[in-house]
Amino acid sequence: DATDRGQIGELLLMGELADRARAMGVQVMIEGPGHVPLDQIAANVKLEKRVCGGAPFYVLGPLTCDVAPGYDHITGAIGGAMASAAGTDFLCYVTPAEHLRLPDIDDVREGVIATRIAAHSGDLVKGVRAAKVWNDQMSRYRKALNWEGMYAMAMDPDKARRYKEESEAAGSNVCTMCGSLCSINIDNAAIKFTKRRSIAEAEAHAVG
Ligand code: SF4
Repeated sequence: DATDRGQIGELLLMGELADRARAMGVQVMIEGPGHVPLDQIAANVKLEKRVCGGAPFYVLGPLTCDVAPGYDHITGAIGGAMASAAGTDFLCYVTPAEHLRLPDIDDVREGVIATRIAAHSGDLVKGVRAAKVWNDQMSRYRKALNWEGMYAMAMDPDKARRYKEESEAAGSNVCTMCGSLCSINIDNAAIKFTKRRSIAEAEAHAVG
């Protein structure tokens, strides 16, 4: 079980094996646990890095609880995000079919996307530049209500487009969350109005 004597013993052994592999010029990656409570994830990552001389660590999820069969891609992504933020180098994806059956193609898709979200969340904490650039670009498109841009930046562009286009706000520059009270739309209109007024005042001042 997570962080019990058996798992720590296995980790110590893997540390020894990592040393031997390195001495022989062989690359190593350390496999971590797949079920870890939230409060033990960061400690597990730290321990692995210390015991295995900083060898790349990969975890299966990890699942943070055991009661959500059918949703283990979410349980795994929660743990994966924590693990990634704590310094894990590689996430093994988990599908909604985990513990129930072999995954079909849709399960694989759901699992991969959930794990990519976890990895991206961790990359933002690690300060990975490309992750920040991607994230910031989505924010710019949101601010501009640029829906095509938002779809292009979305982790799952098809799903993002489908949700918007199947709603009552299809084709509109706002969405049905706030509708006519869209704060971004109101804000943008206010900024435009203020800019126009400033220009008009400047022109009137110049003429005067
Ligand atoms: S309607 Fe609300 S949720 Fe939708 S874009 Fe505007 S502020 Fe965002």
